[in-house]
Amino acid sequence: MKALIVEVIDAKRIGELVTVGRIFGDTPDVVALGTGDIPGNYNKAYCSDAAVGSNLIDGLVELIQKEGYEVVLLSATTVGAEIAGPLSVRLGAPVLTEIIGAKSDMTVTRPIYGGKAMTTFKINQTPAILTVRRKYFESAIAEGTTTPVPLAGAAGAIRLVSEEAVVTEGIPLDDAEVIVSGGRGVGSGEKFTILRDLAGILNAAVGASRGAVDEGWAEPTMQIGQTGNIVAPSVYFAVGISGASQHLAGIANAKCVVAINKDEDANIFKRARFGIVEDYAKVVPALIQALQEEQ
Ligand SMILES: Cc1cc2nc3c(=O)[nH]c(=O)nc-3n(C[C@H](O)[C@H](O)[C@H](O)COP(=O)(O)OP(=O)(O)OC[C@H]3O[C@@H](n4cnc5c(N)ncnc54)[C@H](O)[C@@H]3O)c2cc1C
Repeated sequence: MKALIVEVIDAKRIGELVTVGRIFGDTPDVVALGTGDIPGNYNKAYCSDAAVGSNLIDGLVELIQKEGYEVVLLSATTVGAEIAGPLSVRLGAPVLTEIIGAKSDMTVTRPIYGGKAMTTFKINQTPAILTVRRKYFESAIAEGTTTPVPLAGAAGAIRLVSEEAVVTEGIPLDDAEVIVSGGRGVGSGEKFTILRDLAGILNAAVGASRGAVDEGWAEPTMQIGQTGNIVAPSVYFAVGISGASQHLAGIANAKCVVAINKDEDANIFKRARFGIVEDYAKVVPALIQALQEEQ
């Protein structure tokens, strides 16, 4: 299977798609969004500084048809979603989004019903377009770098006006080995402070459920789940989070989940390795104190 990756220049993201590409065959070729060398060794590598996925469609269609790529791999991110749909229409190609598993015979799996069921599909037509959920595949280690050639045909139907980084305090969710997440059970935005205190001691990032984000207690960038960040930390504290399937979709690959919830029937306890049935306002200060005594 001749595969092509389309992804921003980021070693981890490209690495995850390389892993998927190798399930289907050899190391894929790459179209990198951005400028500069691409981490990893690729047979053919292209680049475009087009900041908007739609602007790449003409160039990608031409390249895929010319080189005969059989599978196009994108991350299931905003950029990936922007490209996958129009590319599928233009190529008359089948598209499957948000896959989390793949086999060499082109069967792929993806969750449905907010993660409550798993579906398996067999793709019988090429080229096929797949978007891949982040953090479900190991990121292949990139050795060396490749200097890309510019992708022809990137047009400018949409122009990027401005881009501003959102300043987040503390450790980014993406890199955190430990995450302390709060839900609606935390009770208020001010009360999130205690979770930040716990996170500070554990060198952890702070996350949130959609319940807490909807209440305005946490930033949307902190949301974990199907429509938020997908994380895979070693330890995940779920504090006052019921454990809805859409939340669990974001922590499927967390190694050790610790749940603190006062409802013993809360769904989160089905996913947790350790569970404490108690008011978090009692448990978290005790935990902080014990950790301080340890130090
Ligand atoms: C299409 C779609 C996409 C979605 N995407 C996401 C997503 O990405 N991420 C996400 O999180 N959700 C998502 N949701 C929402 C999801 O279904 C739930 O509504 C949400 O996760 C609930 O948040 P919560 O657990 O914080 O709140 P609740 O369900 O209200 O749970 C609060 C919990 O706190 C406990 N509690 C209360 N007080 C205390 C206390 N003092 N101490 C300890 N425990 C206490 C309660 O027992 C309860 O279990 C999505 C929903 C849909 C339909």
